[in-house]
Formats: sequence, structure tokens, C-alpha cells
Amino acid sequence: MPKTYKILIISLLSLMTVYVIGTKLAAYFVDSGYNKVAQKPPYRTTAQVRALYYNLPFVADLHSDVLLWNRNIEKRHKYGHEDIPRMIDANLALQAFTIVSKTPKNMNFDHNDDKTDNITALMFATGRPPSTWFSLKERALEQCSELYQYARVSKGRLRVITNQSELKRYIKDRSVNPNQTAGFLGVEGMQVLEGDINNVQAMFDAGIRMMAPTHFFDNKLGGSAHGINKGGLTPFGAEVIKKMESMHMIVDLAHASPALIDDVLDIATRPLLVSHTGVKGTCNNVRNLSDEHLKRIAAGGGIVGIAVFEQAVCGTDAASTAQAIKYASDLIGYEHVALGSDFDGAIQAHFDVTGFPLIVQELLKLGFNEKEIAAIMGGNVRDFLLKNLPE
Ligand SMILES: [Zn+2]
Repeated sequence: MPKTYKILIISLLSLMTVYVIGTKLAAYFVDSGYNKVAQKPPYRTTAQVRALYYNLPFVADLHSDVLLWNRNIEKRHKYGHEDIPRMIDANLALQAFTIVSKTPKNMNFDHNDDKTDNITALMFATGRPPSTWFSLKERALEQCSELYQYARVSKGRLRVITNQSELKRYIKDRSVNPNQTAGFLGVEGMQVLEGDINNVQAMFDAGIRMMAPTHFFDNKLGGSAHGINKGGLTPFGAEVIKKMESMHMIVDLAHASPALIDDVLDIATRPLLVSHTGVKGTCNNVRNLSDEHLKRIAAGGGIVGIAVFEQAVCGTDAASTAQAIKYASDLIGYEHVALGSDFDGAIQAHFDVTGFPLIVQELLKLGFNEKEIAAIMGGNVRDFLLKNLPE
């Protein structure tokens, strides 16, 4: 082999080695830097709380962005908000794994456009396939296949749920062996469709069962609560909602502009949910739900997941999340209230997933009984999915 080829090959191999090592380091630093907790584990609760919490038959969380960071969730981590070992420790039966595809630079709560993107660099830096560097659709499909890969190697500790019969089987299996957890896939912002209605089917085929029209910026479907125009549903958006309903995919109204929420509620024929939110009644800002929207979502058989970070509940502890749960329960009934933590969504959470008993402790203080707590902590999500997933 000529010397120049040898030098070229050695240089390429060295570059690739540096890239691979760099991706591991970048994944660690970005992930641990963005997903902090206000209180570190372990968490202290009373014996009564622990007895109640760890005997809950079905704890569920409607929102986690953990797939974004290329964290190996098979392993236990000292940073971030969850992984399979911590989910099992936390008696978490079901996690919605929600996919982020694009976020604007200088992201803020009330004025973002779609001209810039943080996720391109993240995909490159965390060693994702080149297809994900340029395509929002590919970013979604890659994160789906990563979840299936975790499930495959988990030796039965994690499974992916896509329909009612899988969920029923899982509930039965877990009643015998609680040493397992499960997830279902969602999307934050349907820019992943890349403007093509046929990609609703592509998302469904990849395992996705829940999608939110918008995330941090207005897109082809309509307005974001954090966008520039904050408009309602476009004709394309209406077409997508109709298609999703026909396939029994769940529409998530998190991050939607108020006009978009109204428009979706006007045309929806199936129950809707809000995967991670707060309520204006305890924390009045653009990302949280008004009383009127809470009432309309509940009237249609929907549920709302209350989150665990400051901008959602105006506080940095479990009591603030419990207050928002109480407000929503008093207004629309506890049967419509759930958890939607937003774990690993570039937030500072009150605690990691093993801190969920702290919420139960606060709910007991607020006068909730065991039946209500079981419903809010996951029973409502289980029942919603048993009704609304494809059969
Ligand atoms: Zn979000």
C-alpha cells in the first residue's frame, strides 16, 4: 500500500476514534448539565407514605424526554431524572417517552421562531446516525428505534406498549412480577411530519401513539404557546388530527397556543390529553392551562399530566406539584388528573423518578384519599390508554 494511503487511513481511523470518544463525553456533559434536580436522592418519606406508594398497582408518567440525550437507560446513573433501574426502584409501571426533534436557540417561553435549532448539534455530538443530522423525521424514527433496542436488551425489564391488548397483558404480568417497567412513544411537535400527511403512518409504524401538534415554535399545523403568531389550527393541522383520530393515535395539547387548543377541541371526536403542564390557577403563565381549557378537556373524557418543574407549578418542591393537582382535581375531578413530569426535558426537576412518593406525601396532607391518589398517580392514565389506544 502506498505510504500516502496508509497515512490517510490512519488519520481517518484516528479521527473516528476521537469522534466516538467525543460523543460519549459530549453526551455526558450536555445531559448532566441540562437535566438537574432540586433535591438529590434518597428521599425521606413516612412509613405510611411508603406503604401506600409502593403498593400502588399502576404508577404512570405522561412525559419524559430521556431518549433525546443518548443516555444508556439500561444502566443506573447518578445524573438526570431516570433510567430503567431507577424506574423499577420507583415502582413506575409506565412512562411516556416523548420525542424532541427541534428546539430554537435562546429558547424562551413567549417568543420563538423556527429559524435556529439546537438539536442538529446535539444529534451530531451524541453520535447519532448522519440521517438524523439533517431530518426531523429521522430524528424521531431514530429515538423510537433506540427505545425498542433498550427493550430488546433489557431481559424483560422494559417493554414498549402500542395497543390495548399489550397493555392488558403487561398489567397481568406485572401483577406477578413487579420487577419490570414499560413505555409508550410520543412526539413533541409534529414538525417531524416534515409537512407530509403520509408521515403520520410512518410515525405510527415506528411505534408512536401520541403526538402534540406544536412544541416551542409555530409550525405547519398551527401555533405554539411559545411561538410568534400563536395561531389556531391550519387546514393541514386539521387534516392531521382527523388522520390521527382514525388511527387511534392520541392528540397531546401540551405547548399548544390557546387558539390551537380551542380549534382542536372544536373538531376532536376522541378524548385528548395534555402530557405535561401546570394550571394558571396556581401558576399563571403562557405554558399553563386556563380553567376553561381544563374544563373542556375533562368534558371530552381527557386527562392532564401535572409537571414537576418551576415554570409549570411555580415552585421547586413536591408541594407545588401537589397544589396544582389539587387545583385541577377540585375544578374538573381527580379522574382527569395525572402526572406528566417532563423528566429529562432540559428542566430542573424537584427530584428524580425515585422521588414520586414525595408527591403522595403532599397529596395526603391536602386531604386526598387512597383511591384518589391511586387514580392520580397512574390509574387514570392506565384507564385512559385501555380505552383510547388501538385495540
Ligand atoms: Zn415539553
